Amino acid sequence: METIRRAEKMQRRCLAWRSEGLRIGLVPTMGFFHDGHLALIRQAGKLADRVVVSLFVNPTQFGPGEDLAAYPRDPEKDAVLAAENGADVMFCPDSAEMYAPDHSTWIEVAGVSKHLCGASRPGHFRGVATVVAKLFWICLPHAAVFGEKDWQQLAVIRRMVRDLNIPVEIVGHPIVREADGLAMSSRNAYLSPDEQRLAPYVQTGLVMARELYRKQSLDSAVEIEARLTAYYEKHLPGSRLDYASCVDGSSIEPVDRVDDTTVLAVALFLGRTRLIDNIRFGEDR
Ligand code: AMP
Repeated sequence: METIRRAEKMQRRCLAWRSEGLRIGLVPTMGFFHDGHLALIRQAGKLADRVVVSLFVNPTQFGPGEDLAAYPRDPEKDAVLAAENGADVMFCPDSAEMYAPDHSTWIEVAGVSKHLCGASRPGHFRGVATVVAKLFWICLPHAAVFGEKDWQQLAVIRRMVRDLNIPVEIVGHPIVREADGLAMSSRNAYLSPDEQRLAPYVQTGLVMARELYRKQSLDSAVEIEARLTAYYEKHLPGSRLDYASCVDGSSIEPVDRVDDTTVLAVALFLGRTRLIDNIRFGEDR
């Protein structure tokens, strides 16, 4: 596996592959790989002849006071893992390579970016959409794989690709979890041993909430959200709920009545670690 740091070189490589008729799969990441990332890389290998994994801790999607400087990094280990899981190239630009000092073009995906993480992290999805669009132009993928753990991000990218006629197939990958149910995340590295023991309650709460809909036919979003909030207060003392919200899975608009198209999304601080997770009411996983 080759590591490429320059955008122009990456683009030339992908143009050459395209001229040979090869299909390119892209997996955008911020590194510090866990099995979730590796599953996405393997999925890209099934969809494409050549797999590019980008590793870029994108400063424009972090707000002031967020964990940009502290974000866990281990690019050497990531390169080994990416290669083992079928990546052909790891694209590792630095910030100066991605953003000229007078960079001034931004992509705003209105509506879908408004609620949930968009409300808690102003500017976050503008940074995400802009960097993903840049990665699409640099890597010229036929398909790109994103995790369903970041459900709103996936919705934002799907909307951007549709609205801007970008010829990239967007593929969502199911959430990869630890054996105890905790959604894998690079940020789980911040959790203390005590917090690690508590963190699985994030998902068990979501499953409990879905059972209210499935088994007790409860369809009031407010009621389901209140029951989930109470569950977290009981099982995750000291945590701070950022949001627990029933939204339409495509538009990410809050709903009053839940149905099979609903996604229940949560963001919760356990100590200093912000965990996100979600569950789809119409799916079993
Ligand atoms: P990140 O490095 O956190 O920006 O994530 C890179 C990609 O991996 C994104 O598309 C994420 O949604 C995806 N991802 C992260 N964690 C998981 C997980 N536990 N399961 C599935 N996909 C994930």
